[in-house]
Amino acid sequence: MVDFNKIEKKWQTRWEKKKIFKVKENSTKKKFYILEMFPYPSSSSLHMGHARNYSIGDVYARFKRMQGFNVLYPMGYDAFGLPAENAAIKANAHPKKFTENSIKIFSKQQKELGLSYDWERMIATCYPEYYRWNQWFFLKLFEKKLAYKKKAPVNWCETCGTVLANEQVVDGKCWRCHNEVSIKPLEQWFFKITEYAEDLLKDIDKLEGWPERVKTMQQNWIGRSEGTMVNFQMKGSEEIIPIFTTRPDTLYGVTFMVYAPEHPKVLELVKDTEYEKKVKEFIAKVVVQERFSRTAEEQEKEGMFIGKYAINPLTGDEIPIYIANFVLLEYGTGAIMAVPAHDQRDFEFAKKYSIPVKIVIQPQDYELHVEKMSRAYVEDGLLTNSEQFNGVNNREAIEEITNHLEKKGLGQKTIQYKLRDWLISRQRYWGTPIPIIYCDKCGMVPVPEKDLPVKLPEDVRFTGEGNPLANIKRFVETKCPKCKSDARRETDTMDTFVDSSWYFLRYCSPKENKNPFDPKKIKYWMPVDQYIGGVEHAVMHLLYSRFFVKALKDLKIVNFDEPFTRLFNQGMLHKNGFVMSKSRGNTVTQDEIAEKYGIDTARLFLLFVALPEKDVEWSDQGVEGSYRFLNKVYRLLEKKITNKTNKRLQNKTHKTIKDVTQNINEFKFNMALISIMEFTDYLTSGEELNKESIETLIKILCPFAPHLAEEMWEKTGHKKFVSLETWPKHDEKKIDVKSEAEEEMVQQTIADIRKVLELAKIKQTKKIELFVSEKWKYEAFKKISKEIEQTRNIGEIIKKVLIKGHEQEISKIVQTMVKGPSKIPAVITSQEDEAKTLEEFKNLIEKEFKTSVVIIKAEDSKEHKAKQAMPGKPAILAE
Ligand SMILES: [Zn+2]
Ligand SMILES: [Zn+2]
Repeated sequence: MVDFNKIEKKWQTRWEKKKIFKVKENSTKKKFYILEMFPYPSSSSLHMGHARNYSIGDVYARFKRMQGFNVLYPMGYDAFGLPAENAAIKANAHPKKFTENSIKIFSKQQKELGLSYDWERMIATCYPEYYRWNQWFFLKLFEKKLAYKKKAPVNWCETCGTVLANEQVVDGKCWRCHNEVSIKPLEQWFFKITEYAEDLLKDIDKLEGWPERVKTMQQNWIGRSEGTMVNFQMKGSEEIIPIFTTRPDTLYGVTFMVYAPEHPKVLELVKDTEYEKKVKEFIAKVVVQERFSRTAEEQEKEGMFIGKYAINPLTGDEIPIYIANFVLLEYGTGAIMAVPAHDQRDFEFAKKYSIPVKIVIQPQDYELHVEKMSRAYVEDGLLTNSEQFNGVNNREAIEEITNHLEKKGLGQKTIQYKLRDWLISRQRYWGTPIPIIYCDKCGMVPVPEKDLPVKLPEDVRFTGEGNPLANIKRFVETKCPKCKSDARRETDTMDTFVDSSWYFLRYCSPKENKNPFDPKKIKYWMPVDQYIGGVEHAVMHLLYSRFFVKALKDLKIVNFDEPFTRLFNQGMLHKNGFVMSKSRGNTVTQDEIAEKYGIDTARLFLLFVALPEKDVEWSDQGVEGSYRFLNKVYRLLEKKITNKTNKRLQNKTHKTIKDVTQNINEFKFNMALISIMEFTDYLTSGEELNKESIETLIKILCPFAPHLAEEMWEKTGHKKFVSLETWPKHDEKKIDVKSEAEEEMVQQTIADIRKVLELAKIKQTKKIELFVSEKWKYEAFKKISKEIEQTRNIGEIIKKVLIKGHEQEISKIVQTMVKGPSKIPAVITSQEDEAKTLEEFKNLIEKEFKTSVVIIKAEDSKEHKAKQAMPGKPAILAE
């Protein structure tokens, strides 16, 4: 058995000492930037789920490096954030100490996985050298009015004690702690991502290397819709209520209006009225309801009248104003016009609260009557009850009524997005301070660039209540940069998603201290060629990063507009049916597997068990299998290695290179490993090995099991690292389809012999006879396979291929082949060739079954069995 642990230590030390994975810009080499989403560092042991994620990236990076690319493959840590702060409150340790310790443990374990990162580029977002550039970007965005502060109803997580961006509220719950999110009106900082809604949507088309599912999620999240803004007037006031609708054709049928309960306007409207108390109660009840289910079709519609009326701009009708659970603040203007005759939700609500229903679209082939309607009519038809638009097709009326509104100044065509601005302020300590100063005389003043970074004060008390920064006098109290009078600092910090929106740029020049990055280096390395990470970031990190890059391009800081050319979403590792996670307690740690089998075994198993994009179940037996395989590979070194070559070995070698290369390129790592395993079996079964084939095997194994590959490379007399060797190229001329087919025939025959022995219950064979098919059948097979390409008509084929004296057999063969085309061999040889091949592999078969084998042409035998032999399928007689 190989001492894997010893080998791993040896090579990890050498890699580190010689810095073999360090990269520099090199204009003569083609660059390739591979990146995994950087982790939040935790101090617990890495488990096999982590190991799988990083191994996927590492295989690809090693492969591309060996292919001759100048590969940038860095690692760093998303080091700010709540867990460290919460842990600090609990354990009374400073978040900085806690984080630094976590990073140390995390990176040590990553090194033990054998990952080929350029560790000199490591970054951590919690250091001023990094976060000062968050502040710098903030100032640039502030200058362009892309960062702004406003009072808004925002998502509040009580457990986390902070606000959340819309993207961080998943089905009404906090993305981090899964607690219900409530709505609070607060003064908050936003990044104006909506300014880029159109570009973010349009440029999704450029993301050819992204999974369709992620692109669709972004499209839906941005949520563009074309429609009409209709100005309703508040009864008894000059105030206008703008309503966005995609159905202006139903405007004459509006019988009520509905505000989202959390709309700030609502409390204003009911202030000091008899409705105030009840409305407040209703709001309190609704806003804690899960927002996703509030709008679900089957959800019970609930609401109440708030005592006010609006005026329909076309009819002058008074329309009662309601609030209801099914209207959300983030859609349109946070209020809707309701047309119960032609919208199902409005219909249900109107029925429940006895609101009139007015038909404005009639179907062409029958007539609707309000009193007979059991549900809304949502199909097309002709307008009715709509004054001058009566009789107009409703599709056309959309345009006509909009034009009419525009002419009268009552509305206009518009485009709406579901996307809302990105809320970036957090009321917590462990993040980037927002570089703003409040002065009583000058108002809001940005911190001058030369004063950056605004450093996080380090001696802080963590009580678990409120924002610790707000209680630090030395931090809060400052001078106004403009007028020098007393002023105070902003105490909110930035969402950590700001840190991760540009970290991929920092890796290009991680030690740069005059700018966030060196533009020349950015030009060489960016964009990221292959990004790897979880699909859960589809509308958070991946959207924010795209926005950031677009904003930086407009600021002329970068010269490209998309950060990630290709994106790969890996699957999750499960155990006992659940995603492997520490909180669930179903983890298999890297340490325990490494100690028992070595890390190469773990890597191999994790990549062999399924396609990298699929979820997989951990299996102890699977690990054992990988362990045995690697030992088998190593034992090949016991064989004699020669310089001799033969056609078969050459074919096998080049066919394997071709398959493995193609499969790694397509992220089908498990398929690549199957080819490598077959090749290993092939080399194991032969008498001797040649240099080309063993060197090929070591090289193509290197991305998967790099430590063992290095060891074997050294043992076969090489002085350099196999990790830096050139990836083998296959030679199409050396791939021989015929030779491949012949071997397959032999393998199939061995499998057939095994079946025969099993069926006949023969434990020890004395003799095996193999009958090679009669000569005429090869000719017949060739003809039939050609005819089958033209027609599947059995009678027609039989007529064309008939051979005198074999009529009955031909008819039978044709029928079987038409029914099961897979029965036709890929390559049809000749009786002579087939007999020769079997002779060639006679030794192998004899060894396999520990008996003597005789090969006989069917014509030379009187055995009835001999007649059953077919081309590529010898008949078998065993006793
Ligand atoms: Zn939370
Ligand atoms: Zn001032």
